[in-house]
Amino acid sequence: MHDQHQFNQGLLEFLQAAPTPFHATTWMMHQFLQAGFIALNEGDAWQLESGKRYVVTRNDSSIIAFVYGKQPLLETGIRMVGAHTDSPCLKVKPQPELNRRGYFQLGVEVYGGALLAPWFDRDLSLAGRVTYRDQSHTIRSVLINFVAPVATIPSLAIHLDREVNRNRSINAQKDIVPLLLQLNEQETQTPDFRSLLLAHVQREYPQLAAAQVLDYEISLYDTQAPALIGLQQDFIASARLDNLLSCYIGLQALLHSDPDVSSLLICTDHEEIGSTSTCGARGPMLHQFLERLVPDIDTRVRILERSLMVSADNAHGIHPNFSDRHDENHGPLLNRGPVIKVNANQRYATNSETSALFRSLCEQAQVPVQSFVSRTDMECGSTIGPLTAAEVGVKTLDVGVPTFAMHSIRELAGSLDAWYLYRVLAGFYQYARAPGLFH
Ligand code: ZN
Repeated sequence: MHDQHQFNQGLLEFLQAAPTPFHATTWMMHQFLQAGFIALNEGDAWQLESGKRYVVTRNDSSIIAFVYGKQPLLETGIRMVGAHTDSPCLKVKPQPELNRRGYFQLGVEVYGGALLAPWFDRDLSLAGRVTYRDQSHTIRSVLINFVAPVATIPSLAIHLDREVNRNRSINAQKDIVPLLLQLNEQETQTPDFRSLLLAHVQREYPQLAAAQVLDYEISLYDTQAPALIGLQQDFIASARLDNLLSCYIGLQALLHSDPDVSSLLICTDHEEIGSTSTCGARGPMLHQFLERLVPDIDTRVRILERSLMVSADNAHGIHPNFSDRHDENHGPLLNRGPVIKVNANQRYATNSETSALFRSLCEQAQVPVQSFVSRTDMECGSTIGPLTAAEVGVKTLDVGVPTFAMHSIRELAGSLDAWYLYRVLAGFYQYARAPGLFH
């Protein structure tokens, strides 16, 4: 990939096509298969061969893609990039139906640390995974996306809350219940959400013979398309930049990696809720993959010693209206390059060796680099880096593209930074550009 414009267009397409981690994983899987990667199933016996490329998913929402290089693993180690597929959002509850004043509404839970205010007055849609029984009584799952704006959460008028601009608080149980339908006065029956989903599955997949929806993981998302914005298109505005932007960068870098050297991309679900799950970064997915690749523990540890994980997740750019929220010497700017994230208490996994290596990769790619550390009097966020480092025992560093409005329904990144980070990670996946990693 040689063109920043084309790169950003691909990113916008991905953001639009991936309203949920399930859709993100499916989209990435499709890209890898199209590029000739071999699909693995975790339930099968594996015979992995060097010189081939593989891809595997878990729970339809986490994915590992692996280029098994021709050079011995003991010489090259494995170059790894990690990111996460999930983003904060509103998820539909199991018995969600509400009929209040004749309005059909759905009860929702908040997934992750969502910034709730931006969810008001948006044209929302529904997407996710539906598990159904078909006409032969087999239980199956399918991904659905309503695409059309079918829901909204209207604000309360300022006349009914004069204090709102001074001290607004949002009650997650009461204030953010989306509105889907106004029932006729004769209609006493509240619609059944599972029946609505069944009708949708039958419409989207008539060939599946779905007979009954048993359960679902459905979330709401904003239908406004991702866009390049600003007088000179300096910015990318979209939902889920955290962290589909890094998934996309990792995917493009891996697709353009050196076939001689072993490279891996892992994008996991559930980061926003702590990563503890079968398919999260605190779960065994990567560790088990590496065990199946190299069953002998002695050899595996020696290979990991020569390996590096770049954990890519967005960073906080210094916001011009709130610049006091940053340490004065560590305020990353948008469009000034990827950010190395450092925290003395290991909320980020970066150390001097891994960050030095990343700096030299940026230099080789002729990309500027910045660093971030939280204000000492503020708590620091975290990401999959320290978890992966602890689970797998691989040297790790945390980097990311600087953004504004993290965890909003519409986040903002610089239009140069994704491309910058792509160039650095593409170099990382080229043996000639970073031979031997560590000595
Ligand atoms: Zn993130």
